[in-house]
Parts: sequence; structure tokens; C-alpha cells
Amino acid sequence: MELNLQELNKTEYPIPVDLQSNVAITSLSSVYNWGRRNSMWPMLFGLACCAIEMIATASSRFDFSRFGMEVMRATPRQSDLMIVSGTVTKKMIVPIVRLYNQMPEPKYVLAMGACASGGGPFKEGYNVVSGVDKYLPVDVYVPGCPPTPQALMYGLIALQKKIDGQSLAVGDDVPWYGVGPADPTPVPILGPDIIDPRQMDMIRRQAEAAAGRETEEPVYRLDAARALPVFGAEAEAIATRTVKKEAVKTDVEVKSFSQAGMDADAIEALRAKRRENALKRKAARLAKEG
Ligand code: SF4
Repeated sequence: MELNLQELNKTEYPIPVDLQSNVAITSLSSVYNWGRRNSMWPMLFGLACCAIEMIATASSRFDFSRFGMEVMRATPRQSDLMIVSGTVTKKMIVPIVRLYNQMPEPKYVLAMGACASGGGPFKEGYNVVSGVDKYLPVDVYVPGCPPTPQALMYGLIALQKKIDGQSLAVGDDVPWYGVGPADPTPVPILGPDIIDPRQMDMIRRQAEAAAGRETEEPVYRLDAARALPVFGAEAEAIATRTVKKEAVKTDVEVKSFSQAGMDADAIEALRAKRRENALKRKAARLAKEG
């Protein structure tokens, strides 16, 4: 990477013209950001068709090594950037979040394509997460289905500009220098449907509300599970939406006997008759089966 001192000259102190190619007066944040933006190592993984475009971006025709990104790492521990390139299924979001947690700070996420950004053409699919940002903090979204290599490079440049705007003096820009290790992102749980552990309280409330009702129950359990990524008013609406439940008919026979005012002898006689009929039916079935 060629060092352009003019890029680093960010202060108001004038530098004599004959020294400008040898001397730079700059801030610590500028040097720090310059180093990070030009050595952004993406993680080596792809999810679907968008990954082919990502591979094309890395190859010689487009070549994102010009941005210091050519060292794609096959381990999260040496990666700075996660390019989510493709459809995120409910099965895959679990290892994706786990890999993200294993990346050291500072780390960034780029959602490449319609699928990673919002579910894309498979948004309504039973197995698709409608946007990786439901689980991970996304820094840059690249639209398209698939985005061209040029579009991905534009997204990478946008990420570099974002890094340029960060400052060591602002704690929110560099949270990885905070006190103690950062909290890991909760890894979703894959059961019959995907469960976001951050919404456990809401799920528990829904379950308690459903258990507490005698004549009412939530519309469908699956509905509630699908609504997991929803926060706020819509989730509340799903939790409180109810339908009338048919009264459960249990122990009908005994109830009807007692309601009909039959005495104990009559009930016993009726039961003996039914037992006898049942035994006859069983004997006939066995005879038929040989
Ligand atoms: S956005 Fe389009 S090209 Fe990319 S993974 Fe989805 S369907 Fe494939």
C-alpha cells in the first residue's frame, strides 16, 4: 500500500511545500484509522450465489487487494470483516453468530445482496432469516441480487469512509477499548423454529399468558415463533391475539350418566352390556384376521 502523506495531513499546521512529501503532521486517530482501513481482512466464507460475485471481486479483474483486503482469512480469529454473502437460513444464522463472536474487536459486518440485507426473494420462506441484521450489527448494506463486484467494492469503500470518521476521542466510536470484554451476541437457538435468546422474556410472557387462559389461547404457536424478530407493538399484538376455544369434552360418558339421573345399578348394567359388545367385536375381528 503506497503511503500518501497528503492523505494524513489533517491538521491546520502548514507544511512547507518542499517538505510535504516527507513530513506529515496528523492526529493519532488519523494514523490509527489509516492503518485499520487499509488492512481490513475479510473472513473467507460464502453462503450462496452472492459469494460468486464476492470471489470475482477478489480475483484479478477487480482485485480488492488494492484496498488491503486480499488476505481473506479462513478463521474468525484473524478476521476484521464479515461479508455475509448470500441467503441466511435459520440453520446457518447459528454458526454465523458464533463466528462473529469469535472475531476480535474491532470487527465489522457487511450485508451483501438482497438476501443478507432483508431476506431477498426468499423472505417469506419458512427457513430464511429476513435480514442478518436481526441478529448482528450491520455496518454496510450492499443492495442487488446479486450485487456486481463494483457494487461490493463501493460498499467496501463506504466501510473505509465509515472507519475514517471514527475517532479515538469518542468512546462510542471505539467501544472495544471499553472496560472489560464486550458482551458476546447471544447465539440463536434452532428448534422447530429459530429462537432469539434476547426475546426470552417475551416468549415466557406469551407462554404464561397462554397457560393462564382457560377458554382462550394464542392463535397458533408457530405464528408466535415466527414473530420472534418483531419488537414492540406488533409483537404485543400477536401475544394478545386470541380465538375462542371449543369447550373440551372430557369424561362425557360419566357426565351424561349422572346428568341423565341414572342410578348406580343402571349405570353398571349399561357398562356391562357395552363391555360384552366390545368383546364380541374383538372376537369377530380376530376370527376375520385368522
Ligand atoms: S441476493 Fe440474489 S444472488 Fe444474492 S444470495 Fe440472494 S438470491 Fe442469490
